[in-house]
Amino acid sequence: MDHEDIMRSAIAEAEIAVSDGNAPFAVIVLDYDNTIVWKDHDRVRENMDPTAHGEINAIRYLCKKLQTLSLKGYTFYTTSEPCPTCLTGMIKARVSTNYYGAKTESDASLPLSAETLASHAKKYPIKVVGGILEKECLEQRNRLLHK
Ligand SMILES: [Zn+2]
Repeated sequence: MDHEDIMRSAIAEAEIAVSDGNAPFAVIVLDYDNTIVWKDHDRVRENMDPTAHGEINAIRYLCKKLQTLSLKGYTFYTTSEPCPTCLTGMIKARVSTNYYGAKTESDASLPLSAETLASHAKKYPIKVVGGILEKECLEQRNRLLHK
């Protein structure tokens, strides 16, 4: 599976989020062997929890399941650029890499780019790369966000 195949899975997961009444944001998690180990999505409305973004949900689930505080070597594919809450969560969980689709900075509640925030993460560095199927991810978000 290449970057685009994995991002297509994330886009499909974001459709599930919307069918459950949530926002169209999703995450696919790969472990250090590049095996997909978890898929999750925004559950803010479902859980009535403003922090229940896909990345946070995945971190909570995986760390508890694996009984670890470190997801070092793990990669998170997200349909949109991670918000500061999620990026900080990934840094805290020592996630190694984030590949995302579309940028969100311009309409985020806290408009700070993930790349800028990540550049400050010296203790637990995270590699952030955007633009994976950017057009498709943006189209989906625009089509489904305020549905
Ligand atoms: Zn978030």
